[in-house]
Amino acid sequence: MSLLDDLRVTLGSVAVLAGDSIPPRHLSDRSATGGRVPLAVVRPRTVAQISAALRLCNDAGVAVVPQGGMTGLAGGGNPSGGDIILSLELLRGIEEIDTAAATMTVWAGTPLEVAQEAASEAGLFLALDLGARGSCQLGGNLSTNAGGIRVIRYGMAREQVLGLEAVLADGTVVTSLNKMLKNNAGYDLKQLFIGAEGTLGIITRAVLRLHPPPGAITTALCALDTYEDVVRLLRQAQGNLGGVVAFEAMWRDYVAYNCEALKLQLISGDHRFWVILESTCDGAAVEGFLAGCLETRLIADALVAQSHKEARDFWSVREGLSTEALPNVVVFDVSLPTARIGDFAEICRAALRQRWPGAYVFFYGHIGDSNLHISVSAAYGPGEDMHSVDQLVYGVLKGFGGSISAEHGIGTLKRPYLGQSRSPEELALMRKIKAALDPKGILNPGKVI
Ligand SMILES: Cc1cc2nc3c(=O)[nH]c(=O)nc-3n(C[C@H](O)[C@H](O)[C@H](O)COP(=O)(O)OP(=O)(O)OC[C@H]3O[C@@H](n4cnc5c(N)ncnc54)[C@H](O)[C@@H]3O)c2cc1C
Repeated sequence: MSLLDDLRVTLGSVAVLAGDSIPPRHLSDRSATGGRVPLAVVRPRTVAQISAALRLCNDAGVAVVPQGGMTGLAGGGNPSGGDIILSLELLRGIEEIDTAAATMTVWAGTPLEVAQEAASEAGLFLALDLGARGSCQLGGNLSTNAGGIRVIRYGMAREQVLGLEAVLADGTVVTSLNKMLKNNAGYDLKQLFIGAEGTLGIITRAVLRLHPPPGAITTALCALDTYEDVVRLLRQAQGNLGGVVAFEAMWRDYVAYNCEALKLQLISGDHRFWVILESTCDGAAVEGFLAGCLETRLIADALVAQSHKEARDFWSVREGLSTEALPNVVVFDVSLPTARIGDFAEICRAALRQRWPGAYVFFYGHIGDSNLHISVSAAYGPGEDMHSVDQLVYGVLKGFGGSISAEHGIGTLKRPYLGQSRSPEELALMRKIKAALDPKGILNPGKVI
């Protein structure tokens, strides 16, 4: 019998899609770099089915590519052709919310937004949040160790996980659904799977840490004239105002482009930097703090949102959907020491514009987390493609001691540059861990390492 026959017999034929019945959404994540056709898409409903499917694929030596909501930006969920897609979309739902422990036990295929709403209905708060919340799944969030807009206050996805269940390449189910904040009983195995982008095991369930709801949030938009002032504002807001739950910076060109596309005029004047500052302090406290910053000329201007609509307007500029629509746009996700981000942006912009005059080069990001995004759209010459910019950007980054991935992961897109951010010893250890957990190399081959 062929592998496909075995999978159909074991999981039921409705769980196995092949040929023309494979929906196109399984061919590429949001990096739009996929397109190869897998042997089949398998959609299990239980952990036992996942275990059985992996055992069959491992015995047959056929590659397995796990997929969540396919909102990834690094090509991690893309099939390589002839492989088995393991879609987690039917393994969904909230198993339990434990209000005493302030935890949620959730299946991996649950969309992030569904989990957020369930936490909120229980009077608690799931701190993980990102723009793709409606489509991404918790298994994908944990596999990429997603960041998002609340990292400055609550940490990355990793910090929200207390327990995990994962299925290894040979079908072994490792259930470790710990609910305690403290548990130092040996190696913290869950950390192996978080951020591994599906190369070490399939995440099936997780116990997430919940928090008290942050209450009302005040949103302000500040205009500043130097990058040094941006960093000073960050530290003063954390030290003197408090309750900072978001601190997002945008460079002038990015704001101008998005405001024009959105027909918004937020603050008049030509300022080099813009910051969205969110705090759990009330409007009066934020206004008082910003008045002090205006007096000392730390900021040039500021606007405190008076309505949910006004706050949404600030965020719609930051989300920058219009820049995403530019031709051949490449989005970078780097991190580097906070104090050096301003200089890096200047040097990087100059180098890109010298090589591709007229290119759009936008900088923005979670500056409170040392995380900068860069969007580049250029007209490429013969023999070049949109990823010709990668080498240049990562080359400049190298001189600043930065990381090639702050939160989106490595996938296939950044794999050639991993050695820039990790030492030979670190890479050798990663390979040893991979070989120990997945000796036949069937789990998401060609991704990460
Ligand atoms: C509009 C938009 C905004 C975004 N904002 C952010 C942001 O602020 N911060 C951020 O970090 N990212 C952001 N992203 C990127 C993306 O949403 C995240 O990487 C997200 O965590 C991916 O989840 P997913 O379910 O879509 O995973 P997928 O794209 O399906 O998969 C991602 C990786 O995880 C693996 N995987 C998926 N599920 C499992 C599983 N159950 N077990 C093992 N491996 C698995 C896949 O093989 C792949 O390698 C954004 C994307 C978009 C489109």
